[in-house]
Amino acid sequence: MRYSQYFIPTVKETPSDAEVISHQLMLRAGMIRKLAAGIYNYLPLGLRSIRKVEQIVREEMNRAGAIEILMPAVQPSELWKESGRWDFYGKELLRFNDRKDAEFCMGPTHEEVVTDLIRKEVRSYRQMPINLYQIQGKFRDEIRPRFGLMRGREFIMKDAYSFDVDEKAADTSYSKMYQAYRRIFERCGLNFRAVEADTGTIGGNFSHEFMVLADSGEDAIVSCSACDYAANMEKAESRRDGVAEHADPRPLERVSTPGQRSIEEVTAFLGVNSTQVVKTLILLADNEPVVALLRGDHDLNEIKLKNHLGCAEIEMAGDDVVQQVTGAPTGFAGPVGLAAKVKVVADLAVQGMHNFVTGANAGDEHLKNVNLERDCTVTSFTDIRNVVLGDPCPRCESGKLEIWRGIEVGHVFKLGTKYSKALKATFLDADGKEQIIFMGCYGIGIGRTVAACIEQNHDENGIIFPLPIAPFHCIVSALAGKDDSVKVASEQIYEELQQAGVEVLLDDRDERPGFKFKDADLIGIPLRIVVGAKSLVEGKVELKERRSGNVEVLPIAEAVAKVK
Ligand code: ATP
Ligand code: MG
Ligand code: MG
Ligand code: MG
Repeated sequence: MRYSQYFIPTVKETPSDAEVISHQLMLRAGMIRKLAAGIYNYLPLGLRSIRKVEQIVREEMNRAGAIEILMPAVQPSELWKESGRWDFYGKELLRFNDRKDAEFCMGPTHEEVVTDLIRKEVRSYRQMPINLYQIQGKFRDEIRPRFGLMRGREFIMKDAYSFDVDEKAADTSYSKMYQAYRRIFERCGLNFRAVEADTGTIGGNFSHEFMVLADSGEDAIVSCSACDYAANMEKAESRRDGVAEHADPRPLERVSTPGQRSIEEVTAFLGVNSTQVVKTLILLADNEPVVALLRGDHDLNEIKLKNHLGCAEIEMAGDDVVQQVTGAPTGFAGPVGLAAKVKVVADLAVQGMHNFVTGANAGDEHLKNVNLERDCTVTSFTDIRNVVLGDPCPRCESGKLEIWRGIEVGHVFKLGTKYSKALKATFLDADGKEQIIFMGCYGIGIGRTVAACIEQNHDENGIIFPLPIAPFHCIVSALAGKDDSVKVASEQIYEELQQAGVEVLLDDRDERPGFKFKDADLIGIPLRIVVGAKSLVEGKVELKERRSGNVEVLPIAEAVAKVK
């Protein structure tokens, strides 16, 4: 591909509406462009990476014996009523009526459609096991679409569905998918963990999530330092009994602190709506709203808050910040304010829960020695996490639990008979008896995988694509100027590499070297060959590796051979 005839609209400035690095870099590298909230155009570079991930997924699905199909995006409501999810799924399901007023939805997932297909076609135990998959556009009307392809409303998913004669056979199908998922994410060059997970709205009775480790991840996961136990925080266990050992023994105390704002004043000040706030203190740090809590002189609340929010670190708000917001006098709120970042508050705000953190709750007064569970009523959030950093592992004797942030890129479920029962998907066994089919379902977010990969592979200059999902393997930067020999040599290298099956981007644009190098770094092509007039006199070019930054000046043939 010739850069001059291609479509890579790179951007110098960091887009202001992109919070996470992968979103910023995908916009800047001209990989994606937003059409509407959570809805994106995939530009050539973005599409090439997406197709790479799809291809890896396809190869591993095929290798595991799954069969590719393609189901419609638009689904009739009847099937969703049969499964019981039409009412259950809520607003994430985008619904609409056709001209005859029949109800439809945009498929957020395809259990209903595939089960309907199978119930009509599979009659005998001889037709199973069967595993059908597709790579297709899904629509979920996410409450907060954000982070670019990471949490879109329209996004590409690989979803697979297995059908088996009994639970044991279904377990085999599940484990095949689990292994295939490991291979897929390994091949994508990702640092990930497979963790035990909750089953959520998909339902079913057993599941694992594949989590890419990244600070920007929206999920908290725990893993054992010694064995391979790992779980989503929602599902995590530990061997510690209760929280008594951490509790602050001192009684709750109400102290007079003239000038202290009431919680209503604080929330009004911050512009958050929290009618149910009982004992919450919300602060501002660096002009961003943050949740804060009064700590006393032990770390129970800090640990609890960390776990609750699933963050490894929470920021301390300084004296001045606490005072500014709460009006508390010096020496009171100061050293005891703990803060978590605005992002978290925004999440909580969406779910209407500001009330899990303790603190001052009336004008002119202040609460001391607050214990999160002992003294607080948690009214709208029941998921106070019960695992803390350093807890003993539930599976082994020696391990301690560690806490990470993760991006869920894949999810495998053992569904059992949930959908087959509801939709009456049955078959005749060897004795001619009617039985219910056992199912499993398996999803991978294709775009999210590319985004997660960028979260893990970038530097201050841009993306550093791992070879398997890079849009091109090699970029040839022709620093032509007025020199024809450079042009000729670059064309030759370009042709030769292409013939060898290398995916090459020839930067033949009439631009200055610095400009070309900046773009090359930004779009993250793993290898770069620089053809410049000076080295060319000696028949040499420069070969640079994007990740290490290593540069070698080599004879043309040698450089080409290395890239091949
Ligand atoms: P999340 O917890 O992030 O909302 P989910 O558990 O709802 O995801 P699943 O129903 O398990 O998602 O879907 C399978 C996969 O599809 C996920 O593991 C993820 O990789 C991807 N995915 C889900 N929602 C989105 C989205 N809004 N944008 C991009 N990818 C998504
Ligand atoms: Mg979801
Ligand atoms: Mg999830
Ligand atoms: Mg999931």
